[in-house]
Amino acid sequence: MSGRFIVFEGIDGSGKTTQLKLLAERFRSEGKKVYMTAEPTDMPSGKALREALGGRVKKSEWDMALMFVSDRIEHNINAEFGIKKKLDEDYYVICDRYYYSTLAYQGYSTDYAWVKGMNLDCPEIIRPDICIYLDLLPSQSLERISAGRDNVEIYENEDTLRRVREKFLSVIEDIGVRDNIRRIDAYRTIEEIADDVYSVVCECFEE
Ligand code: ADP
Repeated sequence: MSGRFIVFEGIDGSGKTTQLKLLAERFRSEGKKVYMTAEPTDMPSGKALREALGGRVKKSEWDMALMFVSDRIEHNINAEFGIKKKLDEDYYVICDRYYYSTLAYQGYSTDYAWVKGMNLDCPEIIRPDICIYLDLLPSQSLERISAGRDNVEIYENEDTLRRVREKFLSVIEDIGVRDNIRRIDAYRTIEEIADDVYSVVCECFEE
């Protein structure tokens, strides 16, 4: 495989989608082939997950952990759109969320070691070259999310965001070195963050 595999993680509203697109544009302008992707996927396995995440289908957290792994394996090995195929074709694959999210959510709602083993020890789940963790405090994230809406229902979620952020930080503590996870302060202007992301990613590829 000669492509590169970059993952963006962070709590909701941390700017993943924004930064992923900017990095993709920058690489494209340099003539690189870029493939943007996300989890859950748009494949049937990902659609089933979205149904469950939306509460339309009731699943246990253990089932959810399995469904994420199943979707992730398909995401890696799919003959047409799989990450492995894209990396073989020299693409820069940039992915919005990956197993770090499963570790942060299901890892703590089920059994962390079990979830970690399924993801990290699975030969069909490729380890990214770098993971960018966009770090934002829950209050900062809510400020941003609510700026785009005219109600404050979202404030009910501050506790949830705080818990999720703490879990992400524990995941970084656990596998940050192994997985080359870089924590970036996401409470800055879009351009400042984009420049930082670009230099951190390029530096990693020069090593
Ligand atoms: P995520 O994909 O992590 O949920 P988004 O990229 O969708 O985050 O960003 C959430 C909201 O915050 C969007 O309305 C976006 O335009 C805005 N936003 C993103 N980055 C910044 C930033 N650095 N400063 C201010 N607002 C931002």
